[in-house]
Amino acid sequence: MNFDDYRGTWVFMEVKDGAIASVSLELLGAGRQLADKRSSELAGVLIGDGVTSLAQEVIEYGADVVYVYDAPIYKHYRTETYMKALLACVEKFKPEILLYGATSTGKDLASAVATDLPTGLTADTTQLDVEEDTGLLLASRPAFGGNIMATILCKKYRPQMATVRPKVVRALPRDKERTGVIFEESIPIHEDDIRTKVLEIVRNTIQTVRISEADIIVSGGKGMGSAAGFQLIHKLAEVLGGAVGASRDVVEAGWVGHHHQVGQTGVTVTPKIYFAIGISGAIQHIVGMQNSGLIIAINKDPNALIFQSCHYGIVGDAFEIIPLLIEQFRGA
Ligand code: FAD
Repeated sequence: MNFDDYRGTWVFMEVKDGAIASVSLELLGAGRQLADKRSSELAGVLIGDGVTSLAQEVIEYGADVVYVYDAPIYKHYRTETYMKALLACVEKFKPEILLYGATSTGKDLASAVATDLPTGLTADTTQLDVEEDTGLLLASRPAFGGNIMATILCKKYRPQMATVRPKVVRALPRDKERTGVIFEESIPIHEDDIRTKVLEIVRNTIQTVRISEADIIVSGGKGMGSAAGFQLIHKLAEVLGGAVGASRDVVEAGWVGHHHQVGQTGVTVTPKIYFAIGISGAIQHIVGMQNSGLIIAINKDPNALIFQSCHYGIVGDAFEIIPLLIEQFRGA
């Protein structure tokens, strides 16, 4: 493999309901830093139906170049169609680094693309950097059940590919003055050759806020005592218009589903306000919420570790304090 043919850092731009996914904008922020350190360009790849209008936004969030595959066949995400477009783009323009959000779409596409290219994939990374001497991508992720951070290098193959968790890196502020180059690309692709058909889209009708996107998160721990006691967390979240988070012990107890888990082996969150209620403050929990704007802890143990990581702490019984908060905010 001739590495000299490969250049630049790319981000696969995920589009949902006509808008660029926030994780893709975050990756442009991280990608910009990597590209600057390696003195190379940053590109975004947009695939979809009617996505050309989003190309300028990709530039305004940090890209130098945007490759666009815009056609009705890409209206809904399908592994086969997106994979064909992305593979064609990789073959033609040869990126050195290719990043995807670790969303269900990003994970699906990245692993499919990896099977067709002579390269590997570092999945679910939480930190990105480049090696000073070589410019190689350093993609780090929790390993061995979260007990160590493993840094993975792809030395022998190109592109170096990684999926990156949402909310672990930051988007740059939008700069409407930024300019770049847009390539409108296409490949011969016909509906008859595609094995999967989208017959119907069934939207999830459960009215919950996704914790990785929420501005307010009310998280509960084992201190809530039981699944019934944990209902108070749901009530407070509802009154505040926030999402429900949880410690791992709560998830393991089966009081809520795994997608509510905050922490090293759960979701990393950065809401404006994070309530940690009946949560002891173990390091594995703290790493998942420490960058929240305002952290408010409620714990009946004045020596609980969580009080070392919060902006405001209330020492007291959650079963007395939460009803008071609900009453207060309901009236607000
Ligand atoms: P506890 O530690 O039992 O704490 C309960 C707290 O509630 C106590 O501080 C107590 O004082 C307080 N309390 C009790 N009753 C009340 C009351 N009535 N009112 C107010 N406060 C009350 N944990 C995560 O959360 N996320 C992770 O991603 C994660 N990953 C892990 C990965 C590894 C490899 C390992 C080893 C552990 C991981 N853990 C994770 C587990 C973590 O170490 C802790 O065990 C867990 O966070 C503790 O959960 P907790 O705070 O709910 O429970």
